[in-house]
Amino acid sequence: MTEVPGNLPTRRLLLVHAHPDDETINNGVTMAKYVAEGALVTLVTCTLGEEGEVIPPELAHLASDRDDTLGPYRIGELDTAMAELGVTDHRFLGGPGRYRDSGMMGVAQNDHPGCFWRADLDEAAGHLANVILEVRPQVLVTYDDNGGYGHPDHIQAHRVAMRGYELAAERGHRIARVYEICMPRSVVEAGFARLAAAGEDFPFEGIATPDDVPGVVDDDQVHVTVDGAAYNDRKSAAMRAHASQIAVDDPFFSLSNDLGQVIFTTESYRQVRGEIPIPGTRGHDLFEGLADAADGDDTDSAGDAADGTGDGAR
Ligand SMILES: [Zn+2]
Repeated sequence: MTEVPGNLPTRRLLLVHAHPDDETINNGVTMAKYVAEGALVTLVTCTLGEEGEVIPPELAHLASDRDDTLGPYRIGELDTAMAELGVTDHRFLGGPGRYRDSGMMGVAQNDHPGCFWRADLDEAAGHLANVILEVRPQVLVTYDDNGGYGHPDHIQAHRVAMRGYELAAERGHRIARVYEICMPRSVVEAGFARLAAAGEDFPFEGIATPDDVPGVVDDDQVHVTVDGAAYNDRKSAAMRAHASQIAVDDPFFSLSNDLGQVIFTTESYRQVRGEIPIPGTRGHDLFEGLADAADGDDTDSAGDAADGTGDGAR
């Protein structure tokens, strides 16, 4: 679904994700909070997540090695999840099904000619630049250069986001800030300490120390933490909407590996483009200090009406 008000709201946030459900797991409270505050929140999802592992037995037939209908099914799940978060502008990069899920690193699906991992970078980023020029976000959120945890589609989503940022700047809109999703080291260390106190090992294979945790950064590299406790119900509801992929048991959830994780109500970000804050200074708003609608736009600003309540009429 794509619904952009005729008069763009003053604050505009764009998120680039690899598969349906990544947006909710990583940024669910952030998205719900900014929607509630009147910002335009635009989600671009790069694949349909066709290669996801299906959790509920009654949906097992959807999997890529059986009916291969998981992709279309997940479009519906994403629609429901976005309704829970209040997000009305969500799109698939290049249109639904343009890029196929590449599967985990090293599997045969990495070589599928239509998969996102094999996409031409400038072509894929060109699709994103079109969206950027349409909604003119001040803030872009995506993964770090390892895609958070090394999934090919997440790495590619990072590359496309950064290249799309460049292409859009060349074509007239420079996004004021780009943030990468991250995890503060202190939060990870506290998690390890709790497990140690309970006499348990960290429950993920290959993760023995805080340094092994995807996206972990030193605390002074965390530039913004969004406290979304007020929106945690929305995040939980949106996670439940991704039922083919996520089992929710508040405040925990699990993916197809069946290992419990905590649903984070605080989401953390490291700024990588724009004026980078001094290390150790941490804000709580992705837009903090940005002048209203003065977003460095080289093009017309007639659409930047100050009231954030466009009704679709232009
Ligand atoms: Zn993903």
